[in-house]
Amino acid sequence: MNEFDLIDHYFRRPVLPGRRHEIALGNGDDCALLTLPPGQQMAVSTDMLVEGRHFLPGTDPEALGHKALAVNLSDLAAMGAEPLAFTLALALPRVDEQWLDRFSSGLLALADAHQCALVGGDTTAGPLTLCITVMGRVPAGAALARHAARAGDDIYVSGTVGDARLALEAHRDGRGGWQLQPQALQRVCLRMDRPTPRLALGLALRGVAHAAIDVSDGMAGDLLHVLRASAVDAEIDLDALLEGPALSEDVRALPREQALTCALAGGDDYELLFTAPASARDAVAAAAVAAATPVTRIGRVKPQPGSVLSAAGLAAPPRIFWIDRHGQPVQPPSVSLASFDHFA
Ligand code: ADP
Ligand code: MG
Repeated sequence: MNEFDLIDHYFRRPVLPGRRHEIALGNGDDCALLTLPPGQQMAVSTDMLVEGRHFLPGTDPEALGHKALAVNLSDLAAMGAEPLAFTLALALPRVDEQWLDRFSSGLLALADAHQCALVGGDTTAGPLTLCITVMGRVPAGAALARHAARAGDDIYVSGTVGDARLALEAHRDGRGGWQLQPQALQRVCLRMDRPTPRLALGLALRGVAHAAIDVSDGMAGDLLHVLRASAVDAEIDLDALLEGPALSEDVRALPREQALTCALAGGDDYELLFTAPASARDAVAAAAVAAATPVTRIGRVKPQPGSVLSAAGLAAPPRIFWIDRHGQPVQPPSVSLASFDHFA
């Protein structure tokens, strides 16, 4: 099978019927052509997965196809954007038809479920690398940007955080308190291998939430991205986090420090962390119901003293204050909260 047969067989598809208006030309030409209705902006994001760095050699190709697109769709969800189309750049060590079959079925099943059309890409020989660029649409001005958090906003997180980290730790050693019963292991592995992009919630939060981010590198580090972009601080209620629905039963069963490591520094959660004014609590609850996605209120945005300095471009690093359910300060969790850095 040569390069062009491979593309034709696995990655060339008729334009999705639901997308005929936006996709004037799909793949097969030098470029795809996309049309946006007036008043809409295009949201664009790229994520790359490299074997040995983001996934282990021998990972189930079907799950990999799902995850490669899911992590990109998660970025659209975090902006409140609706998926339209994506491109796929693929480096393959060899043509393995069984692998391609499973990879493309995992990828395209998720694409179809969200009406996201594969409109182009590039295919080359090389170390296994998957790079997807996703495109979505959002009414002009309605995107949920990181810089839009305001002092006084509530802070929420969707679904559960920390499961993927628990799966990773259980795989890595299985000793030192990380061992799991088979059913629990299966549950958390599913969360790691087949994340659910929170697209319905992102859409439902348009006009309700202020700022949003998807939790990919650990919730605390991702919260710090929002705080820095918005020049604000935050307080997080550790009781609300540790005892509320934001932790699965599997993470909650861990000793406190391990649960905090998973929840705050985990990564690969693909949940939405967002802020919304206190006046929007009912609207947030309605959005969660409409999207069938639970959300948990875990804290509040605080003004940064020195906002005059930040106006001059000398913003102080943002801070997270840790409190209990009574609003009393508690010992900061002794886990590293910095987002994962590939070059650190
Ligand atoms: P070019 O020479 O313009 O780079 P290619 O020969 O690489 O084009 O690709 C031919 C067509 O197939 C293009 O429309 C391209 O977008 C599409 N294509 C290539 N690789 C993929 C892929 N992995 N998935 C989807 N479409 C692809
Ligand atoms: Mg090319």
